[in-house]
Amino acid sequence: RGGTGARRARRRTGIMGGTFDPVHHGHLVAASEAAAEFGLDEVVFVPTGLQPFKTDRRVAPAEHRYLMTVIATASNPTFTVSRVDIDREGTTYTVDTLRDLRAERPEEEFFFITGADALSQILTWKNAEELFEAAHFIGVTRPGHDLDGHGLPVDKVSLLEVPAMAISSTACRERVERGKPVWYLVPDGVVQYINKHRLYRVDEGG
Ligand code: ATP
Ligand code: MG
Repeated sequence: RGGTGARRARRRTGIMGGTFDPVHHGHLVAASEAAAEFGLDEVVFVPTGLQPFKTDRRVAPAEHRYLMTVIATASNPTFTVSRVDIDREGTTYTVDTLRDLRAERPEEEFFFITGADALSQILTWKNAEELFEAAHFIGVTRPGHDLDGHGLPVDKVSLLEVPAMAISSTACRERVERGKPVWYLVPDGVVQYINKHRLYRVDEGG
């Protein structure tokens, strides 16, 4: 913009953290919408290690969650998966995720994609001010729902309506446990992976 020479704009990178237990089409639609709406060159999915707000239930082993995320994103050239959170010891904090990715990608502009539910808690997260310095935040909401203020810095947060918000990992796990299908809620390869490893069955698998 202006100036001499053909200086390229900074690469724009979406970051989608999640437990991905399992990854589902809500996550993929949100990433796709964010990429289209914000002109992202890449969306990096980052499966979490241990999570501060999910200590009350059993979570499938990180390698299973990681591999399901790889399977779900493999066919999209702009989607990638990072191991930074699962390779780091201990509880996952978003501030550490952003620090590790920044070290790997010093020149990129970061857009952290998160559900509006989580976004409204963000001020309670570890190092909230540093987070807003490290990335622009995209809060995905259900069509028709609005996120009022919550004291979030307006210049650092954008809201994005996505159509598949009704899908949740919790519902997918419960369906598998009760023997109901999850076809079309999660990618085909993820259905097959869940079956192959007998995930989310009571007293079995991960
Ligand atoms: P759980 O039911 O176990 O909480 P989840 O479906 O919310 O799982 P997470 O892995 O916790 O999935 O979510 C990762 C990120 O994706 C979070 O920012 C979450 O708000 C967002 N997200 C979850 N479900 C959807 C959806 N259907 N559409 C868009 N974003 C979603
Ligand atoms: Mg959730």
